[in-house]
Amino acid sequence: MSETKSSLFRHKKTCQFCMDETSVIDYKDVKLLSRYLSERGKMVPARVSATCAKHQRGLSKAVKRARFLALLPFVAD
Ligand SMILES: [Zn+2]
Repeated sequence: MSETKSSLFRHKKTCQFCMDETSVIDYKDVKLLSRYLSERGKMVPARVSATCAKHQRGLSKAVKRARFLALLPFVAD
């Protein structure tokens, strides 16, 4: 039962940042940003992560800044 619940949550097509007002996109929050990166460090497409266009833009800006500050590795995407 608990497994069903967690998979439902993950597959819900709703933007996390729209859903949860306490979730802010912070370029220093590597843990959060890495959730939106593949294992190779590439950005996960918005249709996969269910992030809305507005927040996807914010995420990609944060990722770029984090890479610039060497908080995240550089990859071509
Ligand atoms: Zn959103």
